[in-house]
Order: sequence, then structure tokens, then C-alpha cells
Amino acid sequence: MDTKNIGFNSKLIHSGGVEDALGSAVTPIYQTSTFSFKSADHGARCFSGEEDGYIYTRLGNPTIDDLENTLAELENGYGAVATSSGMAAVNTVYMALLGSGDHMISHNSVYGPSRSIMEKLYPKFGVESTYVDCTHIENIEKAIRPNTKLLYLETPANPTIGITDIAAASTIAHKHNILVCVDNTFCSPYIQKPLDLGADIVLHSMTKFINGHADIVAGAVISKTKEIHAQMSYVMKNMGFNMDPHQAWLTRRGLKTLAIRIDKAQANARKIAAFLEAHPKIEWVRYPGLKSHPQYALALKQMSGPGAMMSFEVKGGLEAGKKVMDNVQLALLAVSLGGIETLIQHPASMTHSKLSKEEKDEAGISDGLVRLSVGIEDAEDIIADLEHALSFV
Ligand SMILES: *Cc1c(COP(=O)(O)O)cnc(C)c1O
Repeated sequence: MDTKNIGFNSKLIHSGGVEDALGSAVTPIYQTSTFSFKSADHGARCFSGEEDGYIYTRLGNPTIDDLENTLAELENGYGAVATSSGMAAVNTVYMALLGSGDHMISHNSVYGPSRSIMEKLYPKFGVESTYVDCTHIENIEKAIRPNTKLLYLETPANPTIGITDIAAASTIAHKHNILVCVDNTFCSPYIQKPLDLGADIVLHSMTKFINGHADIVAGAVISKTKEIHAQMSYVMKNMGFNMDPHQAWLTRRGLKTLAIRIDKAQANARKIAAFLEAHPKIEWVRYPGLKSHPQYALALKQMSGPGAMMSFEVKGGLEAGKKVMDNVQLALLAVSLGGIETLIQHPASMTHSKLSKEEKDEAGISDGLVRLSVGIEDAEDIIADLEHALSFV
């Protein structure tokens, strides 16, 4: 059926499906590396693009198409490329848009490796970058140079939950012919649609909310226009950043329950944030659903809900934070996020440990900051777990 005009929940279930000869309700796993042609002429037509046809799985596969077509519809983009990991998606964007002599602006507390490769690897290819606090929009404008080609945002950002105004940032960037990419991993298209807000490219670590079951590593890049999509597609196919069909099938299956998973996790998160904020051993809580969030109004404007990610500071700094992590029983002490299980981690010693003390301070990552990815368990059990762990502080 034509899924263009159906609702978001209906798209989660019905979009993307590739019809097959047997009428499969679910697009099967085409676990094949290559596809045979009917004749030499047919092969030639597939290669020239005259005829749509599958050639080789790195270049295209029905199971992967099912996922990519669905993602493009959910984010309101022209097209999507699925990648083997979120970092492959980040590299797809960097490689497609940046070359020797180009400059990129990004947010100072983006996902650790997204910053690390830009500062350690890309200078080898002559790419320059500036990291600023993009939640204050004037910092972006100040960082623009004549050779700036890309504004790379992540909002809410990892792990400070700082929010950048996507519409305002896109307006400034476009005035200077700069493309805007938003890492939408923390929200998923259910909560935030960056392309509708003015961005040109959206990327995901589908390892997180999109797959949602902590059993897959995967990524995706969704582009607003045909031209940008073609650039992303070229890099993905020729750098070999493609997915495996089985990985694509599992991700597509996880995606079907995105909305009901997020509804439950978000409802839990609201209760947990309120509990933590009222707790005497907690210094502060950053959650877009709390009025105390410095960008509460912006969150209401650009996100349809506050999501399931929060960070908080336990009074007593590093040692106190560690005590909480060592004494939780239900929540798993683990990196990653967006799964059905509640995860807790400590950015200063884990995900952001590669940053220097100054970089951590600048990015707002204090030693006692704890990040919580709320799952879909019973809220009372997660709260009881945190209450018990906090009793050791
Ligand atoms: C996890 C993550 C990534 C990287 O994705 P992988 O799937 O681990 O490669 C990128 N951005 C954000 C915000 C993430 O949370």
C-alpha cells in the first residue's frame, strides 16, 4: 500500500515492505551476497541503472531496502542509507561532505568518538574543526569561517542533555551555505524530526532507540534531498559501511515497536526524574521534561516529548556517583542507551574518559555526573532500585 499519508504508528508497521512472490507478511532475510541476472542484457541494464534490480548486497538488498525506505519515511527525508554501526553513519557524513581545506563546527559534548575521530583522524586529510557550546546559538555564528561546510549537531547532547535550537541553527548555517546534520539518536523520529525543523541530514546510532533491544549495533543517515542522499550512498557503498541483511531484519523488527517502547520509557522517565529531583542526596537532575531544565521551553517547542534520557549529579562527587553505580541491582551498569532495559553509566570514567580535564569542564561533564537511560520495566522497581543504591551514599 501507499504509506505516504498514514500516521507514524502505522508507518512503523507498514512502511518499507518489499513485496515478494509468496506474499510474505514480513520482508524476509535475503541472506545472500549476490543476485543472478536473467541474461547478459539484464545485467547490463541493472548496472547502467536503466532497470531497478539487485546486483550485490553491498550495493543494495531487499531486506536492507525495507529498513532504509522506512527510515526515510519516518524522518520525512528523500532517502536513507543503513550502515553497519552508528560510527559508520558518522563517518559517512564526514567523508561525504568534508575534504582537505574544509572546516566543521560541532557541539563540545557530542558523542565521544564523533569528536575524537574528527580531532585525531580527519586532520590527516586536511579537515579542520571547532567545538563550541551550540546550545548558545551565538557561539555557532562566531565559529563560522569562510571554509565552514558542515554544522554537526547532537541534541539533546550526550551526556549533558543540553538542547540546541535546530531551526535557529539551521537558519544561521544556511545563510552561510553550510549544511546541517543532526545526530538524532537520543530522540528517534518519534520525538524529534530534524529535517522538518530545517536540518539537511539526520543520523542515528540505531543501536539505541531505533532497534531498542540491546542486541544490534547499527546506524543510518537520512538526507533531505536527492543530491545529498546520492553523496551519502556513494560513501556507504564504496567504503563498505553497509549493513548485513540479518542485522537489517532485526533492526526493522525492533523499529516496529518504537512508539510504544518510547511511550512507556518516557512515562517511567518522568516519574524517575521527579523522584530524583526531590531526593536530598541529589544535587541536580537534567531532564527535558523538568521545568528546571535550562531549555525547557525549547524542548517543548522542538521535541514532542522529553524522551527517556537523563543525567544527574549525586552530592559528594565521584565517590558518591560510584557508590550509586556499584549498588544498583535492577539497572545494568553499562554504556549504550535506548534499550528496553534501564542502563546507568558514569561518563567521566567511561564514555568521555578520553577528554582532558579542561574539555570535560567546558562540556559540562562533572566527575559526579551519572547518566541514566530509562527502560520499560515498572517505574516503581526502577525508583526502588535507585532509592536503595542512594542509601549507600
Ligand atoms: C552510540 C552513539 C553513536 C555511535 O553509534 P554506534 O552504533 O555505537 O557506532 C553516535 N551518536 C550517539 C549519540 C550515540 O549514542
